[in-house]
Amino acid sequence: MIKVENLHKHFGGFRAVDGATLEIAEGSITGLVGPNGAGKTTLFNVIAGNLQPTSGKVTMLGEDITGLPPHDLFHKGLLRTFQIAHEFGSMTVRENLMMVPGAQSGETMWNAWFKRGQIAREEAALGKKADEVLEFLTIDHLRDERAGNLSGGQKKLLELGRTMMVDAKIVFLDEVGAGVNRTLLGTIADAILRLNQERGYTFCVIEHDMDFIGKLCDPVIVMAEGKKLAEGTIDEIKANEQVIEAYLGT
Ligand code: ADP
Repeated sequence: MIKVENLHKHFGGFRAVDGATLEIAEGSITGLVGPNGAGKTTLFNVIAGNLQPTSGKVTMLGEDITGLPPHDLFHKGLLRTFQIAHEFGSMTVRENLMMVPGAQSGETMWNAWFKRGQIAREEAALGKKADEVLEFLTIDHLRDERAGNLSGGQKKLLELGRTMMVDAKIVFLDEVGAGVNRTLLGTIADAILRLNQERGYTFCVIEHDMDFIGKLCDPVIVMAEGKKLAEGTIDEIKANEQVIEAYLGT
């Protein structure tokens, strides 16, 4: 699904991503782990169009997507979530889902006047979709709650829900489990698995919680010093001496 070839992202003289080469297989839930500062988030930012690479290439299903802006990638079905959730705090959970960019045509006065019927139909369809998403994620009881009042874990679920409002092909999850209690972490893991199995989503997941990674991810890619250090099942990478050394070295 995604091929990263010899990717570099330098900040001044510092090589945050330093020649990373890796692949994310279609239909997989690929884990991305590694010590702090390994370049994981920077790699996500470059793939997802939030940062321009210094050099290197990223392809999606064979198409060159290097350096494309996030909204173009969004339309190709490549989405990401952030470590810090990006919700609209004063709007309800359902309204947040309906705000997914590119889904509405009622943005201009012209449209608002001339396309009233179409806009009403689109809104109804969006509302229906939002209700389905809320049900899928088992958070329909939070439908009318203001998003700003949600717990950290519930906000992460909402982020995941936003990816379901469009036809996502691959979703990059940045520490979706950080600071989330065990129960909600189970709900998030369950939703990821079901999206993978029932909806055909491919995922790439950055996460520090090795239990979470072990339950969900195959393969797991280990990054260190801006490049791929190892790849394998969770058991293989836990037994890999280079990996152990990289973790102990920080
Ligand atoms: P990880 O996600 O694996 O912890 P990051 O990608 O966040 O690693 O960071 C990799 C390295 O790049 C870190 O040393 C970090 O300080 C540095 N870095 C990240 N973003 C910037 C930036 N905008 N400017 C300068 N250095 C940065």
